[in-house]
Amino acid sequence: MKQFFPSLIGNEQLKNQLGNDILSGTLSHAFILSGPAGSGRHTLALSLAMALNCQHKSSGSEPLPCGYCASCKKFLAHQHPDLTVVGKEKDRATLGVDAIRNVRTDTSYPPTEGGYKIYVIEEAETMTAEAQNALLLTLESPPEYVVFLLLSQNPALLLETVRSRAPTLRLELLSDETVSAYLVSHSSSAKKMRDTQPEVFSRLLHASAGNLGAALSLLESKSRAAADKRNELGILFLNALRGKKALSSINLIKSLSPLKRPDLAQAFNLFNEILRDLYLCKQSGFSEFLFFETEAEVQAVADCISSQKLAGAIDATTEALDQIGSNMNVSLLLHVWAVGCGIL
Ligand SMILES: [Zn+2]
Repeated sequence: MKQFFPSLIGNEQLKNQLGNDILSGTLSHAFILSGPAGSGRHTLALSLAMALNCQHKSSGSEPLPCGYCASCKKFLAHQHPDLTVVGKEKDRATLGVDAIRNVRTDTSYPPTEGGYKIYVIEEAETMTAEAQNALLLTLESPPEYVVFLLLSQNPALLLETVRSRAPTLRLELLSDETVSAYLVSHSSSAKKMRDTQPEVFSRLLHASAGNLGAALSLLESKSRAAADKRNELGILFLNALRGKKALSSINLIKSLSPLKRPDLAQAFNLFNEILRDLYLCKQSGFSEFLFFETEAEVQAVADCISSQKLAGAIDATTEALDQIGSNMNVSLLLHVWAVGCGIL
């Protein structure tokens, strides 16, 4: 069976219906694409535009759209001349009649490259009544090569006359399993979160409530917060290692003490990455660094730490990582480690 709209996750029934309508040439000339932000309206709009003009449309084996023909590539790069996106200006509350009149004029010219011209109207409910009435004139008898896609989070705000001429396609909420499978296969930080912090990952899925866009943006902010925290801990460790401030070792132990064993193991792995960077910098002066951003940065720190101290810290951290799975008391483990690193 031909695969339709592979970029849109879930929504199988909708995808099959639209794909078959495109192949049989019975696709409606206007649709309202409805759903909350992040539900896939833009993905579906772009996929429809690509599918209508895809050069492999009639190939039995290729998905529709194929995603790699010259036409699909132009759509993906937002450079296809037969795709027009209209929306209200940022500082305006509404989309006025002039923009829609321009669209109407434009529809009288046949497509430049593809078989179809696609007009996407963003936040369609912001069209003034006058603009909607102007659009209606085209919706009543559109040229055969024209397809309108009206994106809206709240189609009930559109005029009844517009709604009656443009069937509403509702993007469905996805199951937690579908969102999870997508995140894990497309993002290494999602996979890491699922494996190391399963409760955090499951809370993220729950908070996204089947909305893939919401899940992706939550993941990004959580990953950023985790990266900030990791960076902070790394700097704390470096300050302690360099003996910069008397309090830095105490602060480091204070922030490590409450950690559970898996989180402590992550912290030691981070310290190992930092120590590896410093060691390689001392040995060869250059490497692909894991923690430091630039060679100058790692060099500046490496210059302050003796090779002997570095070797001791590497041994102590490797030993601590080995011990973490044992029954050894955590505060004793931390103490032994800190002494071995020469920071206590
Ligand atoms: Zn294609």
